[in-house]
Amino acid sequence: MRDEEMEVAVKVVIVGNGAVGKSSMIQRYCRGTFTKEYKKTIGVDFLERMIEVYDDPVRLMLWDTAGQEEFDAITKAYYRGAQACVLTFSTVDRASFQAVRHWKKKVEDECGSIPMVLVQNKIDLIDRATIDAEEAEALARELKVRLYRTSVKEDLNVSQVFTYLAERYLAEMRSWEEEEFDPPRPVITTSIFASPGYKFHGKPGYYDTGIISLHPTGKRRFQKKKHLWKNLCVT
Ligand code: GDP
Ligand code: MG
Repeated sequence: MRDEEMEVAVKVVIVGNGAVGKSSMIQRYCRGTFTKEYKKTIGVDFLERMIEVYDDPVRLMLWDTAGQEEFDAITKAYYRGAQACVLTFSTVDRASFQAVRHWKKKVEDECGSIPMVLVQNKIDLIDRATIDAEEAEALARELKVRLYRTSVKEDLNVSQVFTYLAERYLAEMRSWEEEEFDPPRPVITTSIFASPGYKFHGKPGYYDTGIISLHPTGKRRFQKKKHLWKNLCVT
């Protein structure tokens, strides 16, 4: 397959305390649905969506947790190979706001410095807010990340979060090209793919080797082969 036929795939992890709206955000963005019922996520899972960034197709794979966040028991396998991250808290849950630094550190311990964004969800419940606007902005400044205020329920600002992350990721890829920097290859082990309850939402047979393959698109893509390693997940 020629370089110019490749597409970019980005693994995005959504972290934050339980019930802040992570699963709802993924469902909203990838399926366009919202439900008021709070169903704890079962099994490691992800959904994906194709978008265009600067005329290039980008496959976003949005990884959800299995509800383990309540026990702080998310496995390394969840973070492994993540290339971008959404740090989420809820407008009506002060503890979730206070936990953001903790979540950021967990991701950085496993993934190093990757594009991140801070999301204050449930902004439709602003009348019951337990966090001041200034506090949220101060945290974003401290963590050096952009802040988005979203309502998954009202479909407010959700797609902007993911477009921004995809743009940041592509910008980083291009800076590696300029710096002649050979980025590390992310690793996803096969064990997670074989774990019970794991569901695949990609094309059949697409992920079962643990290798996320790059698909032909017929359009010009990134020129240098080394960049494609960033998107190859090897066992
Ligand atoms: P998770 O544990 O972080 O995955 O949270 P969920 O996505 O399961 O959502 C927890 C609860 O919050 C569910 O009852 C959702 O319907 C609700 N929820 C999610 N996003 C919003 C939002 O933007 N506004 C409101 N009012 N409720 C939301
Ligand atoms: Mg969930």
